[in-house]
Amino acid sequence: MKNLRLVILGRQGSGKGTQCLRLSELYRTIHISTGDMLRAAVETQTELGKKAKIIMDAGDLVPDEIINGIVAERIEMNDVLESGFILDGYPRTSAQAEALEGELLSSGLSLDLAINLEVPVDEVTQRMLDRSRADDTEEAIQRRLEIYENETAPLLEWFEERNNLIVVDGLGTEDVVFSRLQNVIDGVISGN
Ligand code: AMP
Repeated sequence: MKNLRLVILGRQGSGKGTQCLRLSELYRTIHISTGDMLRAAVETQTELGKKAKIIMDAGDLVPDEIINGIVAERIEMNDVLESGFILDGYPRTSAQAEALEGELLSSGLSLDLAINLEVPVDEVTQRMLDRSRADDTEEAIQRRLEIYENETAPLLEWFEERNNLIVVDGLGTEDVVFSRLQNVIDGVISGN
C-alpha cells in the first residue's frame, strides 16, 4: 500500500485526535499530533514543556518557529519517511503551512490530501466542556476557537487552492465519521 501523507484540520473538539489515531492504525502510517508532543514535553518538564505549559493553559499558540522545528525534525525521522504521516493539529497558521510545504518540497515529497473535519462551533464547545481536560477552561476554549477562526480557518482556502482539500462531516458517531474518512482516503488512494 502507498504511504499516505495527510493533514487533518478541524476545530479543537472535532474528534480529530481519536480519528487520526484510528486512521494511522488502519493505513499503517504515523500519527503526528503536535498537541500530544507538547503535552509529553510538559509532562517531562523539559525546557520546551515549561514554556509551552503557560501558553497552552491560556489557549494560545506556541510560536511558529518552535513548532515548525519540532515537526520538521519529526517528519525527517526514518519511521515517518518509510510509512508516511497523518498530521493532527498542524499546520495551524499560514507560517506553519508554508514551513510544511517547504519541508516536504526539500525532501521531494508532497501531501496526498488535507481533510477538514467539520464540526460546528456550538457542538465543539459542548464536547470540550464535557471532556474536561486540564487546559479546557471556558476562557481557554473561547480563546482557542477564536484563534482557529482567525489563524487556522484561512488555511482551508490555502489547501483548496492547491487542490487537495476535502471537507468531511464530523457530526455523528465515531464509527460513522471514521467510515466517512475512510471512504474519502480510499478514493484518493485509488485515484478517484
Ligand atoms: P491540541 O491537542 O491539538 O488541541 O493542542 C493543544 C495545545 O497545544 C494548543 O491549544 C496549543 O497551545 C498547542 N499547540 C498544538 N499544536 C500547535 C501548533 N501547530 N501550533 C501552535 N500551538 C500548538
